[in-house]
Amino acid sequence: MTTRTAVITGASSGIGAATARRLAEAGFRVVLAARRKERIEALAAELTEAGHEAVPYVLDVTDRDAVATFADHFDRCDVLVNNAGGAIGAETVGASDPADWRAMYEVNVMGVLHVTQALLPALVASGDGTIVVLSSTAGHIQYEGGGGYAAAKHGAHAIAGTLRLELCGEPVRVIEIAPGMVMTDEFAVNRFRGDEDKAAAVYEGVAEPLTADDVADTVAWTVTRPSHVNVDLMVIRPRAQAAQHKVHRER
Ligand code: NAP
Repeated sequence: MTTRTAVITGASSGIGAATARRLAEAGFRVVLAARRKERIEALAAELTEAGHEAVPYVLDVTDRDAVATFADHFDRCDVLVNNAGGAIGAETVGASDPADWRAMYEVNVMGVLHVTQALLPALVASGDGTIVVLSSTAGHIQYEGGGGYAAAKHGAHAIAGTLRLELCGEPVRVIEIAPGMVMTDEFAVNRFRGDEDKAAAVYEGVAEPLTADDVADTVAWTVTRPSHVNVDLMVIRPRAQAAQHKVHRER
């Protein structure tokens, strides 16, 4: 028998990397999937050095053929964490570039679809599978300048909800984690196209935004509950963020 295997997409940074560390510590062989080879290789080396099993795999989740090849490569999958994703831009609906919306839909929705479809047979065959979808509070509410990201994350939320219904009776849980404000190194910088000042302003004055590890801790907790316990949806925000628009900032 090989070790229980967890596939984490977007494992090259932020929440994905932190989740890979947590699941490796929980005893899973972790498969680290992302586009940046050096990053996932470095993380795999770090985890291997610490005595864990970690396999890096360069993957673009928007490339359906590549995802199919990826799925064929592994003998088992017990846990899939659909984490790859992100936001591009903060323009109003009226001023948005459709290319940004398409790119967000491709990674946050189609990426989840491709990887989930490809690994579903293995998850069912495991006899005790778990699918995690990292959506966002933006998958549950709208905010000004968040139209494209909210549309995509509402899509991710819809996938999780539909899958849970469709898989009822199969040995596979479907868990949605919807974080609010998480301060990771790249998320806001990517959203603002490399503008570090705009990215920093997102977290300005917020005493303690969530960290990648806070979210990873939640993912690992839900995944390691007894098999019959399905945490359908967990919304996790920093104490300073009571709602999407209600953020306490110290001046
Ligand atoms: P991040 O550090 O920017 O991580 C995003 C990850 O996704 C990276 O590892 C990136 O790796 C990967 N990725 C992007 N496009 C990909 C593609 N086409 N194929 C494969 N991997 C791809 O952001 P994060 O803050 O950790 O966010 C992780 C997830 O949580 C995302 O789905 C995000 O939408 C969600 N989330 C974040 C926040 C927040 O405030 N930070 C809040 C709620 C939800 P490569 O570039 O190497 O491919």
